[in-house]
Amino acid sequence: MPLEAYRKRRDFKKTSEPKGKEKKFSHKKPLIFVVQKHAATHLHYDFRLEINGVLKSWAVPKGPSTNPEDKRLAVMTEDHPLEYAKFAGIIPEGEYGAGTVEIWDKGKWEPVGDPLEGLNKGKLLFKLFGKKLTGEWVLLQFKNDTENWLLKKTKK
Ligand code: MN
Repeated sequence: MPLEAYRKRRDFKKTSEPKGKEKKFSHKKPLIFVVQKHAATHLHYDFRLEINGVLKSWAVPKGPSTNPEDKRLAVMTEDHPLEYAKFAGIIPEGEYGAGTVEIWDKGKWEPVGDPLEGLNKGKLLFKLFGKKLTGEWVLLQFKNDTENWLLKKTKK
């Protein structure tokens, strides 16, 4: 149940966030990514990539930087349903992630190499085709640390 952690944290009677359906992974459709600006207790940017029928998600406190010299901390969070890519709105006070969510950028993405292997090995290389974010990017997992990754644009 890839969305179990996501659903456990939310009361869908109170939040308008999608409950999500389990989707089968399809190679036919282009893969989507979204970056949501989330004004919660601490402002952050949720960076989400469609992998295997869910949105793999990282919270990036400072947001992505298009300067290849900048590395941005990206903390892996629970998988989100694909429908979440369309979500913008207000998560009510007292609910998980309370605050305003807006779509900051979205578009297609393409893995460079096998994305599941990249996730397992802690080095995920990919191309983004958004409005703000384009070109080649990498997510690098800290050694011996499952949650913390670095997000940076490559020099390509
Ligand atoms: Mn968030």
